[in-house]
Amino acid sequence: MNQPAAVGGAEAEAELEPEPQPSSVHPAVANEDQKWPGSASAPASGAKEKTTSTVPLLPPPPPGLPLAARRALASLSEEAAKLRRSRRSEEGKPGRHGRLKKTKRVVTVDTSKAKTSAEALKICIQQLKWKEFPTGRRHLCDIYWHGSSFHDGEVSSSGQVNKYPGMTELVRKINFSRAVRTMQELFPEEYKFYPRSWILPEEYQTFADQVRVSKENDSSWKPTFIVKPDGGSQGDGIYLIKDSNDVRMLANLHSKPAVVQEYISKPLLIDKLKFDIRLYVLLKSLDPLEIYIAKDGLSRFCTEPYQEPNSKNFHRVFMHLTNYSLNVHSGNFIHSDSVNTGSKRTFSSIVTKLSMRGYDVKKMWSDIITLVIRAIIALVPELKVYHQTYIPPGKPGPTCFQILGFDILLMKNMKPILLEVNANPSMRIEHEQEISPGLFEYVASPVDEEIKVAIIRDTLCLVDPALKKNNRHQSCLTDGAADSDKEETIEAELHDMNGTPSSKEQNWSSLCLKQVFPKYSRQFSYLLIVDRIALLFIRFLGIKGSMKLGPTGFRTFIRTCKLSNSNLSMASVDILYIDIARRWNIIRGDRGESGMCFQAFMEAIFHLAQRRYKTPPLREQVEALVNFCEYQLEVQEDKHILYGRGTTDQRLSLTMYQPEGSRSGATNHMHLLNRMSMSNRLPASSLPTSADQQLVNSMSSRVTDCSPAASFSPNGWDNLGCRFCRNANQSCSVIGLSDVRSQRLKLTQILRPSVTSYFM
Ligand code: ADP
Repeated sequence: MNQPAAVGGAEAEAELEPEPQPSSVHPAVANEDQKWPGSASAPASGAKEKTTSTVPLLPPPPPGLPLAARRALASLSEEAAKLRRSRRSEEGKPGRHGRLKKTKRVVTVDTSKAKTSAEALKICIQQLKWKEFPTGRRHLCDIYWHGSSFHDGEVSSSGQVNKYPGMTELVRKINFSRAVRTMQELFPEEYKFYPRSWILPEEYQTFADQVRVSKENDSSWKPTFIVKPDGGSQGDGIYLIKDSNDVRMLANLHSKPAVVQEYISKPLLIDKLKFDIRLYVLLKSLDPLEIYIAKDGLSRFCTEPYQEPNSKNFHRVFMHLTNYSLNVHSGNFIHSDSVNTGSKRTFSSIVTKLSMRGYDVKKMWSDIITLVIRAIIALVPELKVYHQTYIPPGKPGPTCFQILGFDILLMKNMKPILLEVNANPSMRIEHEQEISPGLFEYVASPVDEEIKVAIIRDTLCLVDPALKKNNRHQSCLTDGAADSDKEETIEAELHDMNGTPSSKEQNWSSLCLKQVFPKYSRQFSYLLIVDRIALLFIRFLGIKGSMKLGPTGFRTFIRTCKLSNSNLSMASVDILYIDIARRWNIIRGDRGESGMCFQAFMEAIFHLAQRRYKTPPLREQVEALVNFCEYQLEVQEDKHILYGRGTTDQRLSLTMYQPEGSRSGATNHMHLLNRMSMSNRLPASSLPTSADQQLVNSMSSRVTDCSPAASFSPNGWDNLGCRFCRNANQSCSVIGLSDVRSQRLKLTQILRPSVTSYFM
């Protein structure tokens, strides 16, 4: 496509944005009034920042004011802020009776590497009354804000960094497509939100073959594909094709690989224009997984009326690509001071519009939340591999959090489609405007400011070091998420996204980030199988700091997990290792460190699972293999503790919570549950019912061969017990709960899937 040169605007990717302009203090205290997406008459939910100061805050400058004027206002505002600060510090001086008033420790933020996020960050830090260090600090800070990646300069040995190591690499188009593909192989129905994609040049032939076969099978299928260079951004180098033969410069793809993807040719249109959604997601913690979604985002519009793709309009970027950085060059681009109009609007304004037109926006939100959680679940396993490499457990290092930008397209039927995830979404709150021909200036962008300031401020609130000491605040922010006993579904909770704030929110009305994980974790826990594979991989990596498993590590894995048998000799294990590791090193162009990368290990696991459990679907094969491996590792650990190396307490806790069956093979899980029941940990009424027993019995009777299910869990309850008790620490808290109904639910959730996956 002929594309105009990209210019970094507010929505351009930060990596490619020009270096920040000389920092100017933003005088506005952001208007915290936030509309609730989907509410036609949005409640003014924002509680204005409380200030005890008698020095008035300056009103926000009129939108669209040139940067120079804003800077002048800014310096005035800074004077006022200084005065407020001096009054506050006076307040902290000894009183008449010589007693020092207790002053709160101020949170410190190093913004020296914040690049284009600096302006928005400055506003947030001022609002929170924290301390900013724009040129860095000799002493340690609480929070380090990086503009590009974890590795922006030297990484602190403590505090918190706003990037995860490896995230930038993992969300590149090829790596992300691979991660989602793995999940699609295991859970095809759940991962339909990502268009079918092929990696070029590696999968060119598969792409060509699959398209040919599909066309032969269905002559009415007239697909369009979009080719996107790996690592590209702002629509750079993207073009549409109708056939595999149209892929350009095949020979060059070796040096410049790309992803070719099914083009969504029937997007939802507003005012005849295609648009996409930039949604902000906070990955607050990897372990335990904590995900927050911003209630509002941005909608970016094309600037030419949409037509379904045909060879005559393929090259029309303003019709097909929603990138701000492209459309801003169109004569039709509308800069608007209102968040409801123009070529870039708030997502909430779109939701309101759709709601008024009768679309089911609740369902749409539910689908979007589901999409976000599933996409993150696809990313997290390899992210953990990076994390343990760069921040090894037990060594000094920062903790991480990260704001991600999800680019989502709504189809005509309102189904959301994930286009890509940005590790470094632009947090710029100004845009470039041509004041006179050839003369550009940065002016405030009210839409960007409204959305981005709230997101950064909420993020800072959530990672506030004081929160760790103050669970009361935490519980407000997580909106009761810690209450794992409460059964929640996304659908039931959606009033939060649609206009009726919950009572808790009335206290924290300015919050725009909503926790979705672990809040809805139950609905997604079965997807965490790749996560468990990542933990196996990390366990056998051996040398800290390595991201690849050596041949000895792989052999140790096979031996420890007792995977070699008459069907799989150690010699064939070695061949498998060499074959898979070498192929992946070629695919990834890794000429440096040899060994087996995580993706290669995944392939090995799939191979071993298929070889061992011949008939069931891949997902069940893999689940059974992972269960088996974990079980073997647990047994080893039990032995380790039992044969003298564990403490008395550890031994005691094992005999309390583990089925004797896991060691002697004689006891079943029923005994364990009964024993716990007797010790008042589990009321008898919450024991599995006779229907559960029958289910297990019927499953058990089907086990006739010497499959691992039969060998390591010879009777139904043992099987349940193994699964149940191997998670002893978690399970104990389950058993300790008082609500019988939720216990039963938990039990059946824990027990049933394991039974079905072993015995079906
Ligand atoms: P970049 O990182 O270069 O912006 P994207 O994957 O975001 O690449 O694609 C750029 C734009 O192309 C998107 O904003 C969207 O408008 C359009 N696009 C991308 N993939 C598809 C697709 N599969 N179907 C329809 N439109 C797409």
